[in-house]
Amino acid sequence: MNKNIIYVDHAATTYVKPEVFEEMRPYFTDLFGNPSSIYSLGRESKKAIENARSQIAYCLGVHPTEIYFTGSGTEADNWAIKGAAYANRKKGKHLITSSIEHHAVLHCFQFLEKEGFEVTYLPVNEEGLINPDDLAKAIRPDTTLISIMFANNEIGTIQPIKELAAIAKEKGVIFHTDAVQAMGNIDIKAKDLNIDLLSMSAHKFYGPKGVGALYIRKGVRIDNFVHGGAQERNKRAGTENVAGVVGMAAALKLAYENLEEYNRHLRKLSDRFINSVMERIPYVRLNGNREKRLPGNVNLSFRFVEGESLLLMLDMKGIQASSGSACTSGSLDPSHVLLAIGLSHEIAHGSLRISFGERNTEEEVDYIVDNLVEIVGKLRQMSPLYEDFIKKGGQ
Ligand SMILES: *Cc1c(COP(=O)(O)O)cnc(C)c1O
Repeated sequence: MNKNIIYVDHAATTYVKPEVFEEMRPYFTDLFGNPSSIYSLGRESKKAIENARSQIAYCLGVHPTEIYFTGSGTEADNWAIKGAAYANRKKGKHLITSSIEHHAVLHCFQFLEKEGFEVTYLPVNEEGLINPDDLAKAIRPDTTLISIMFANNEIGTIQPIKELAAIAKEKGVIFHTDAVQAMGNIDIKAKDLNIDLLSMSAHKFYGPKGVGALYIRKGVRIDNFVHGGAQERNKRAGTENVAGVVGMAAALKLAYENLEEYNRHLRKLSDRFINSVMERIPYVRLNGNREKRLPGNVNLSFRFVEGESLLLMLDMKGIQASSGSACTSGSLDPSHVLLAIGLSHEIAHGSLRISFGERNTEEEVDYIVDNLVEIVGKLRQMSPLYEDFIKKGGQ
C-alpha cells in the first residue's frame, strides 16, 4: 500500500491478502474452465469450488451442502430474508428485525412491508444491544422470520446471538443473522448457535470483493432468489465466481487459524487509541459497548465537530477513516444506528469510525491521535456553538 496512507476503514473493506491472491490467480488465467462443463478443465473448476465449500463449512461447523455461494453479502441478505419470507408466507406474514441492521437487511424489510408483510423493528439500548426479552415478546403465532445482525458495522456491538437464536428455535421461527461484519473476528459455529441462515462476505475478511455465501441449515424453507441455470444445486443460478470462491475460502481459513492473535492485535490498538483519545480530547464519547464489541472497531462522537470536516482533514493527513455519522458518504442524514442508540442529530453528526486491521501499528495509532487532537481543536475553534459553550463555563 502507498506508504503515505494509513488505512483504518477495515469495516468498509479489506485488501486481499497476498497468499489469498496467489491461491486465486490460476483460476483467472489457466484453470478458467466453466464448472458446469464435463471435460477436465471444467471438472478442475468444479473441484476447486467444492473444496472451497468444504473449507467454509468446516470453519462454520456445518455440512458443505448447507453452504451456497452468492455475489455479495448484500445478495446473501436479500436471499435469506426475501426467500424465507416468501417461502413461508402461507404460514404467516409477520417478520422481526432490529433497528440497527445494515441497509442490505433494513431495505429488504422495507421492501417486504410494501409487499404486505408486517415488520417489527426491535429497539436497542444505549450501547446498541438487543434485549432478548423484547424479542421473546415480539414473537407472534404468525411470525416466520427473525433477522438480527451478529455484530454491528458502525458501532461494533456484538449481539447475544446464542440467546436470541435459542428463543427463535423454541418458538419455531427461522433465525437469520447478517454475520458479514463478525466473520473473521469471531469463531462462529452456526450449528452450535442454532442459526438457520447466515450471511457472509469475503471482502470483509481479507478476501476478494463481489463474493459472499449464505449458510442455509438443512430443512429450512427458502425460495430461490436468482433464477436461471442449475448451479448451486438448483438454488442460485449463474456461472460461479470460481477465483472469488477460492479466495473467500482461503481467506476464511487463514482468519480462523489466526483468530486469537488477530483479536489480540486489534484489541491492543483500539485500547491504546481509545485511552489516549479520552485522555487528550475533552467532550468525546465512545459509542457502543466497551467489551461486547468487535476488537478493531472504535466509534467516537466529538461534540462541536462536524464529522465530514473531520474526515476531510484526516484525509489530508493520509488517514483513511469513515464518518460514523453518515450512512453513505455524500448523505447528510445521521446514521440510523447512532440515532437508535439515542444520540441527538447534533452529536451523531460529529462521529468518526476507525476500524483497525492486520497491518496497523501502534505508531500509526499515535499518529492518528496526534492529528485528531490538532484537528478537533481547530474545528472547535471555528464553532460558534463551542464558543458559546465555553463562555457559559462548559456546561
Ligand atoms: C459490508 C456489509 C454488508 C454488505 O456486504 P457486501 O458484500 O458489501 O454487499 C452487509 N452487512 C454488513 C453488516 C456489512 O458490514
